[in-house]
Amino acid sequence: MSEKTVPYKIYLEEHEMPTKWYNVRADMKNKPAPLIHPGTKAPMTAAELEGVFCAELVKQELDDTTAYFDIPAEILSFYKMYRPAPLVRAYCLEEKLQTPAKIYYKFEGNNTSGSHKLNSAIAQAYYAKQQGLKGVTTETGAGQWGTALSMACAYLGLDLKVFMVKSSYEQKPYRREVMRTYGASVTPSPSSDTEVGKKILSDFPGTSGSLGCAISEAVEVAVTTEGYRYVLGSVLAQVLLHQSIIGLEAKAAMDKYGIKPDIIIGCAGGGSNLGGLIAPFIGEKLRGEADYHFIAVEPASCPTFTRGTYAYDFCDTGMICPLAKMYTLGSGFMPAPEHAGGLRFHGMSSTLSQLYDDGLMEARAVGQTEIFAAAQQFARSEGILPAPESSHAIKGAIDEALKCKETGEEKTILFGLSGTGYFDMGAYEKYNDGLMTDYIPTDDDLAKGFAGIPK
Ligand SMILES: *Cc1c(COP(=O)(O)O)cnc(C)c1O
Repeated sequence: MSEKTVPYKIYLEEHEMPTKWYNVRADMKNKPAPLIHPGTKAPMTAAELEGVFCAELVKQELDDTTAYFDIPAEILSFYKMYRPAPLVRAYCLEEKLQTPAKIYYKFEGNNTSGSHKLNSAIAQAYYAKQQGLKGVTTETGAGQWGTALSMACAYLGLDLKVFMVKSSYEQKPYRREVMRTYGASVTPSPSSDTEVGKKILSDFPGTSGSLGCAISEAVEVAVTTEGYRYVLGSVLAQVLLHQSIIGLEAKAAMDKYGIKPDIIIGCAGGGSNLGGLIAPFIGEKLRGEADYHFIAVEPASCPTFTRGTYAYDFCDTGMICPLAKMYTLGSGFMPAPEHAGGLRFHGMSSTLSQLYDDGLMEARAVGQTEIFAAAQQFARSEGILPAPESSHAIKGAIDEALKCKETGEEKTILFGLSGTGYFDMGAYEKYNDGLMTDYIPTDDDLAKGFAGIPK
């Protein structure tokens, strides 16, 4: 097919949209290590996990052999309100860069929450509702997950209690108001509403909070409140499963025009958008059907893949959650303030960690001034104002396109544009005023986090 026939935006027809999620673990020879109980060190059983999570989600979490899961009809009709997400050919960016590379991005910011997180929020809220629960609890760092979940809970009539990392509760009052508009209750974390919150406040007076603290608080409330369970927006295998919709749609759209990507790039926080984007492609690679170059881009201030260690660790600061084997900086690692707030988690999806450890994926860390330079270049050429998190993927794509310019190679690059940056204008203001700095932890800073990893 001639290149001219590729439109700026490729949308699937409604009947071409995926109706199943893909579970990449089914095709992995080396399965991700199981979650283990912090006390007994035995793999967590379904019964143990069901005290914290919804039963159907526990099934998905523990299933590493079923390749495809039907998407329930109610979730599919919710998806149709904002999906398919467009696959966009970045003709204008290519022109600016004068690169022979062909750049495509999958845009997940076309919904009110502004990111891919809605794809899993609606699924998790749906299963909670099916189970007859009254509500769910969660944490939110930068606010995208809390916003997405409040939309999903409002749609299904579920209560939602959000623990929002205190620094972002204060810096992003409008994020907070969006959640409240959809009916969620929002508490700054650490708070004195929970035992773990009180302990963190007394151990670290004046702390502005972290995702790990907020997770501990949300879990405590879920397990001590009748009719509630806890839901998490990233890291878990079930979240990667739901996010596979991103990659499945992208692949279907590319297949429709006979396009095969050479390089696939995503930003990595807990790994859900990257894991979702690469899922069907890495499945082909694992089955030996095709080859792709996968690149994870993370912030230099929270360099989980590039400087972390692969070990069993806690997912939360309060150390009440199961242990996951993952690339980690230690649950006590407190990243310096960083504007890509959604990428500040100390650990990484155990699925992606295993794939990375098996050498199937490359990872890079980039400082935030370079990230905002890439974000600005993208906004000025492609029009979309990107989330700082997503701009890590943009930076990766621009760098690869510039390499092609040097070598003359016409590679096809696909990257995940996970969301929009309208709530991040404080960060853009810092960048525009020349006040943005790069925080890179020293080896000593990292050693403190590593010291807290259980032996
Ligand atoms: C939360 C978020 C991320 C990071 O989370 P992952 O689980 O790594 O995908 C990336 N981009 C945006 C826009 C986000 O909201």
